[in-house]
Amino acid sequence: MKGETETGGVRKTGIPSMKELRASPGYPGPELLARGPIAVIECVQDIPCNPCEAACRRGAIHVGNPITNLPVFYGEKCNGCGNCIPVCPGQAIFLVDMTYSEDRASVSFPYEFLPMPAKGDIVEGVNRAGEVVCRAEVLRVQKPKRFDHTAVITVAVPKELAMEVRSMKRLKREG
Ligand code: SF4
Ligand code: SF4
Repeated sequence: MKGETETGGVRKTGIPSMKELRASPGYPGPELLARGPIAVIECVQDIPCNPCEAACRRGAIHVGNPITNLPVFYGEKCNGCGNCIPVCPGQAIFLVDMTYSEDRASVSFPYEFLPMPAKGDIVEGVNRAGEVVCRAEVLRVQKPKRFDHTAVITVAVPKELAMEVRSMKRLKREG
């Protein structure tokens, strides 16, 4: 049942457990993850929301009726474009590329803080709880107008942390 932890208790933190995520219809399985860049939808609450569905021109995300349905992800249709990342008001969509290099994966996430990192920066990757778990190299910073104030940052992280790192520690303002 949604909202429960791995131990079956009521979720206290609002952070979904890995078991809950893996069981959700938005989560790609290991075969799809091994293929290349792919969306990872970490939406596990029945909220009335569906901009992800409209953002995906390839029909890889389906919410349908009622609008409180969890998004169902058809990963075989996903080309890893990342267009769904900035439209999600819950900041629940990520892009993971397990094929980035032999020992590193790339992870893309929404980011709305200033100052923005720059390509080549070494930042601190944080997990869903906001805890620093590794150093990460910034590969790309995307903030076109159509993303409407939500930038998409792509970082390289140790491969074993690809399903853990979901953001970066905010940078301090200079001066
Ligand atoms: S990454 Fe692109 S193709 Fe994949 S689900 Fe998102 S919008 Fe659709
Ligand atoms: S846009 Fe985000 S919060 Fe809304 S249904 Fe899609 S994944 Fe869930």
